[in-house]
Amino acid sequence: MESILKNAIENNKKWTEFGQVASYIPELAKGNSEALGACIFDTNCNMILGGDYDTRFTIQSVSKVAILICALIDKGKKTVFSKVGMEPSTDPFNSLAKLETRESHKPLNPFINAGAIVCTSLASGDNGIEKFNRIHNMIKRMTNNDEIEVNHSVYRSEKLTGNTNRAIAYYLKGANIIEKDVEDVLDTYFKLCSIEMVVEDVAKMACVIANDGIAPWSNEQIIPKEVNGIVKAIMITCGLYDSSGEFSVNVGTPAKSGVGGCIMAVAPNNMGIAVVGPALDMHGNSIAGKKVLEELSQQLNLSMF
Ligand code: GLN
Repeated sequence: MESILKNAIENNKKWTEFGQVASYIPELAKGNSEALGACIFDTNCNMILGGDYDTRFTIQSVSKVAILICALIDKGKKTVFSKVGMEPSTDPFNSLAKLETRESHKPLNPFINAGAIVCTSLASGDNGIEKFNRIHNMIKRMTNNDEIEVNHSVYRSEKLTGNTNRAIAYYLKGANIIEKDVEDVLDTYFKLCSIEMVVEDVAKMACVIANDGIAPWSNEQIIPKEVNGIVKAIMITCGLYDSSGEFSVNVGTPAKSGVGGCIMAVAPNNMGIAVVGPALDMHGNSIAGKKVLEELSQQLNLSMF
């Protein structure tokens, strides 16, 4: 297994040259476009690291997985899906276009920015700080790492430049889909996107989801089974934004990407995988990370299809 991971990284390193580091959040432009690293963590707690596995990155949209988990646990399936849809989107992750044209004004799904901002507002807590703590705690439990923290430079950078997200959130407030204070919700969302990790942390989160919501290191049921199943379904249909279909064909596992360059992949009842490669394709997904996962899926027979 170690050599399979090593080869997948070496064979696909060349792809980093064809992508670009995200720059619309200025602080992310400092990412190392040549880095490529990965971690596999299986349900028996075996771990394999490869390549630039010590690269630190902000999780960005990978946080949407923990946000959805908390919204579903705290408010239930019915309430969550009365405010956000469950269908894939063919628009970019930060698009506003469909909000106005859809009759209900509901965001299409919880993994586009609009949907994640709504789900952030649904997590339990009376204000942004309490909501952040709720979701941050879930992330600490899923990573088995109490030291997970926000990267404050990235957080400040996102908060200063996040005007598209601001437009989305105010529109949703106008449509009565967000009931809470918009700036407070946005601040929480920016902080969650700016949480910093290494691939080991993300692979452990993915492994909890692969293991029906049970942490393999403690046997604790962190995520109720029904919620875990919904999250896997949304990951496979919407996890890579407007290239989720392509990813399902080529890799075939539930997954979630973020513009920090991380992709989290879940091989059910088997393992969690995390790849980091900050050079992105036009959809905002790690260009080499996708290729590494394609090779791993073929070599390890991971596709659910
Ligand atoms: N923080 C980023 C944003 O809101 C997250 C987007 C992403 O990772 N695709 O634009």
